Amino acid sequence: MPLFIATVRQIISSPWLQAVLVALASASVLLAASVGVSVQQARQHESAQMNARGERFLERLEQIFGQLREGVDHLQAVASRQCDAPMRQALREVGLNYRFVYEAVYLDGAVACSSRGGGQVIRPDRAPDIHGPTYSYWLNTSAEPNDNLAALVLGRGSFLVSTSRGHLADAVDLPQGGSLLVVLDGGRRAIPVLGPPQPWPPTPDWPPPSPKALLELSDRLIYRMPTQFPDYQLVLIVPRQSLPLPGDTLLWLMIGASLLLASLLGWLTLRLIRRRRSLGAKLRKALRRGELQVLYQPIFELDSRRCVGAEALVRWRRADGSLTSPELFIPLAEDTGQIQQITDFVLQRVLEQLSPLLRAHRHLYISINLAACDVMLPRIGHVAARLLAQHRVPAQQLAFEVTERSLVDVVAARDTLQALRAAGHQILIDDFGTGYCSLSYLQTLPVDGLKIDKAFIEGLGQDTSSGAIAPHIIRMAHDLHLRVIAEGIESEAQAALLTLEGVKHGQGWLFAHPLSARELIDSIGLGRRVQPRWRKAKP
Ligand code: C2E
Ligand code: MG
Ligand code: MG
Repeated sequence: MPLFIATVRQIISSPWLQAVLVALASASVLLAASVGVSVQQARQHESAQMNARGERFLERLEQIFGQLREGVDHLQAVASRQCDAPMRQALREVGLNYRFVYEAVYLDGAVACSSRGGGQVIRPDRAPDIHGPTYSYWLNTSAEPNDNLAALVLGRGSFLVSTSRGHLADAVDLPQGGSLLVVLDGGRRAIPVLGPPQPWPPTPDWPPPSPKALLELSDRLIYRMPTQFPDYQLVLIVPRQSLPLPGDTLLWLMIGASLLLASLLGWLTLRLIRRRRSLGAKLRKALRRGELQVLYQPIFELDSRRCVGAEALVRWRRADGSLTSPELFIPLAEDTGQIQQITDFVLQRVLEQLSPLLRAHRHLYISINLAACDVMLPRIGHVAARLLAQHRVPAQQLAFEVTERSLVDVVAARDTLQALRAAGHQILIDDFGTGYCSLSYLQTLPVDGLKIDKAFIEGLGQDTSSGAIAPHIIRMAHDLHLRVIAEGIESEAQAALLTLEGVKHGQGWLFAHPLSARELIDSIGLGRRVQPRWRKAKP
C-alpha cells in the first residue's frame, strides 16, 4: 500500500502530467470561449441579415400596396359605371401600367368586367378582412390552391384590383421555410399570405411588450413591420439557420489559436515547474556546499549616529560568483520547506561570526528575519536557546523580525512570539504598512516595535500619499508604546524628518550597505561613529 501511494504521488507530481493538465484545462476553456464567440457572431450576423431583409420587404410591400391603391384610385376617377369600352380601356390600362396588378375588375351586382378580358373575374365571396375608411382588403391564404387568385385583393367602391402570389413572391424573396403573415384583430389572428402556415401566436405573450422590430426566439426570428394602418401588421417569420459552426473559417482559426495557446501554456508550465524544481535542488546543494552567506546591515541611533545593532540578511553567492536575491529564493524556500534550514543556518552563522562582538558590546543586538512557517512552530525558540547557550550570548541580543504576511495563523503565531519574548528576545514587525495589520490589531500581539517599510520612507517630505503615511504610523506606534525603526533611509533629509517625528533608530544606505561580518566587526571594533567607508557599494 505505501508503495502504491508513493507511485501515485510520483505520478501526480510529474511535471509532464501537470503541464498536460494545464494545457488540457486551458484548451477546454479557450475552445469553449471560441465556440461561444462563434455562435454569438453567427447569431449577430443572422439578426443583422433579418433586419436588413425585413426593411427590404417593407419597402417592396409598400410599393405593392401603393400600386394597388393608385390603380383603384385611377379606376374610381373613370366617369363610366358600366362595362362599356372606356371602362374596359381603363381596366386594361391599370393592368398594364402597374407591374404588381394582376387583375383590375369592375363589379356591380351581376355586371362584371376585367382587365384580363375573360369571363371569369375575381369575386370575393366574403366580407373584407380589413375594412378601412377608403379601401377594403381581402387576404387570401397561402393554402389557396390557385397561385394567381390567392393573393391580396384591394377594393374601392365597385372596383377591385388584385396581386397574385407569384407577384408577391417576385417582390419578396422569402427564405426557405419563412412566412409572411398579416396580423389582424390586435394580434389575435394571423393570415399567412406567403409561405407555410405558422403556429399562432408565436409567443404566449403576443404582442410582445418590447417595441423592437426584431424578436429573436431560440428557433425562429420574427420581424414586425410597422404599417400605416393600426388595424393590421405585417409579420415575417423565418426559422433560425442551423448555425454554420463546422465550416466557419473564423471558428477554425480560433480553434487553431486556442490549441496553440494551450500548448504554449502547457510548455510554459513545464518550464516553470522544472525551473522551480531545479532552483529548489540547486538551493539544497547550495546549503550543503556553503554557498549561502550572511551580511549585516547596521542599525543606527539617528541623533547620535551610534550603531546599536545590525540586521542579518542572507545572500546566495553561486559558484560562478553570481548573486541571487533573497527576494527570489526565500519565497521558493518557503514553498519547499527549505526555509527552516535557512533560518537555522543564519542563526548559527550569526552566532559563530558575531558572538565575540556581541559579548564585548552588550548594547548591540542582531535582528533575524523569520518566515511564516518559523512563526507557526515553537521550534525556532529551542534552536535559538541552544545556540545562545553554546555561544554564551544573552537572548536580549537577538531580535526577531516577522512580516505582517507571516502572521496568517494568528493564534499559533501569538504563542510562538509570546514564548520568544518571554525568553528575552525583541519582536519586531518588519515592512510595516505593506500587509494587512492595523496598529490597533498589533496591540493584541506580543510585539516590541515595528520597522516602517522603505516604501513609506522614500516618499517622506514629498507631497505623495506614501510620504504622508509615515508620520501617521510613527505617531500611532508611539501612542501604543512601540519602538520604531525606519528602513531604507537614503538621504539626510529623510533622517532629519524622521528625527523630527521622534524616530530614534533607522537603517539604510545613508549609513551603511549590508556588510560582511569582518567589516562589521572592524567598524564597531574601531569604536568609530559613521565612517564614509561603511557606505561601500551594495554587495
Ligand atoms: P527586509 O528584511 O525588509 O530587508 C531589508 C532589505 O532592504 C534588504 O534587502 C536590504 O539590503 C535593503 N535595504 C537596506 N537599506 C536600503 C536602502 O537604503 N535602500 C534600499 N532601496 N534598500 C535597502 P535584501 O537583503 O535584498 O533582502 C530582501 C528581503 O529578503 C528582506 O527584506 C527579507 O524580507 C528577506 N530576507 C533577507 N534575508 C532573510 C533571511 O535570512 N530570512 C528570511 N526569512 N528572509 C530574509
Ligand atoms: Mg527585515
Ligand atoms: Mg523590511
